[in-house]
Amino acid sequence: MNLSNKINRKIFKVVAAAGDELGVPVFVIGGYVRDAILGRNSKDVDFVVLGSGIELAQKVAGKLGNNTEAKYFKNFGTAMVRYKNWVLEFVGARKESYRKNSRKPIVENGTLEDDQNRRDFTINAMSVSLQKENYGELYDPFNGLKDIKNKIIRTPLDPDITFSDDPLRMMRAIRFATQLGFKIEPETLEAIKKNKNRISIVSKERITDELNKIILADRPSTGFKLLDKTGLLKIIFPQMAALKGVEIIDNKGHKDNFYHTLEVLDNVAAKSDDLWLRWAAILHDIAKPVTKKFDKKAGWTFHGHEFVGAKMVPKIFKQLKLPQNEKMKYVQKLVQLHLRPIVLSQEIVTDSAVRRLLFDAGDDIDDLMLLCEADITSKNEEKVKRYLNNFKLVRQKLVEVEEKDRIRNWQPPVSGEIIMKTFGLKPSREVGEIKNAIREAILDGKIPNEFDAAYNFMLEEGKKLGLTPVETKR
Ligand code: ATP
Ligand code: MG
Repeated sequence: MNLSNKINRKIFKVVAAAGDELGVPVFVIGGYVRDAILGRNSKDVDFVVLGSGIELAQKVAGKLGNNTEAKYFKNFGTAMVRYKNWVLEFVGARKESYRKNSRKPIVENGTLEDDQNRRDFTINAMSVSLQKENYGELYDPFNGLKDIKNKIIRTPLDPDITFSDDPLRMMRAIRFATQLGFKIEPETLEAIKKNKNRISIVSKERITDELNKIILADRPSTGFKLLDKTGLLKIIFPQMAALKGVEIIDNKGHKDNFYHTLEVLDNVAAKSDDLWLRWAAILHDIAKPVTKKFDKKAGWTFHGHEFVGAKMVPKIFKQLKLPQNEKMKYVQKLVQLHLRPIVLSQEIVTDSAVRRLLFDAGDDIDDLMLLCEADITSKNEEKVKRYLNNFKLVRQKLVEVEEKDRIRNWQPPVSGEIIMKTFGLKPSREVGEIKNAIREAILDGKIPNEFDAAYNFMLEEGKKLGLTPVETKR
């Protein structure tokens, strides 16, 4: 097979010419070749050279001119060149051998074949020649092309050794299966089950990188089911594995919260590419196992799972080396609020309930509504229809109330400053109490969200606390 039509861009011609001038054979290898065959556009290209990767990169950078940024990693013998939005990586062909307790192999110079042997999957081991005499020729020693056609993830060599050598490859196998919609070949899958405990020698950051790629795929549930099936989930994310299973008492069962969560996650993924909204879907019911109770009358209950769940978020983020920042707070907030719109949709919707929801959710209200609609996964179509209809009403009400009362980005109409000036107060408990009272009055609809009304209300509240104004409104 010849892929010269896939590598006819200026960039490849420049690399080919640089290789030619240095007299070293160069090949495109790995992900770019795979994606080109699959018709996926990629701007990350790996080149393998039978010579020095750094020298070739220097030559390429020189030829590409001004727009080029180059980095050389002498210790690793690799180089990276950025040109426009392309990222080119250059490395000399190498042979790798592994020791038992480290992911870091012993590296020696090798042939193209050695280099292909060290690749993780057959579909990632293909290379394409950039030499004059056979420009575009595909080198496919492990039948990667056939595996692409049959949608199969398979290791080039013995999977047991491949995964034992570098256990991160187990996560990568599941990630590629999820991203591409491929099946993991049975022997390869068996080897993951067998080697699952070796994942412990891989850093948490790398595991989470792969996990996030799984979560960002079109149907993330595929990856989580594979993580579960292979036993990896229990090791890398035990809280999620604990969602699995159904308990039955007095003939009453509850739904399997693992599969429910995966449905919610896929539903969210169909509507949003946001990683953190997807994380909120993953974690929305995370406290169900620890809050589960059986009541003779009510059956299974999970009281407070939204609050306990929100409390679990920081610990899970820390454990997975996810960021401890506003993204985490956002996920926490959505987990904590995830039942509120449902409760609203089941009752007559009062303005004040809607105002409180807008106040608590702020600008995340749209994401919260999306999550809640995704959370409706009943098998009963009538029920789903009814719920979704009720949600429409809630959404409508949200728009109406927001237009009228502007609660979404609420700022107190009367500030703490004004309260202090009016009553001649220093920062104190009283100031806080008056502020809270004003907020509550607005949310309850006792007074409108306006300065004059809030000012007068403040004077009354001050009176109740025995305060007299020292300064009046201009
Ligand atoms: P993507 O860029 O979409 O994540 P990719 O296949 O390009 O996919 P990279 O991590 O960029 O993945 O790696 C580039 C190539 O390097 C792979 O195609 C594969 O040949 C090889 N590779 C990467 N990681 C490993 C690994 N852990 N073990 C063996 N080979 C690997
Ligand atoms: Mg890549």
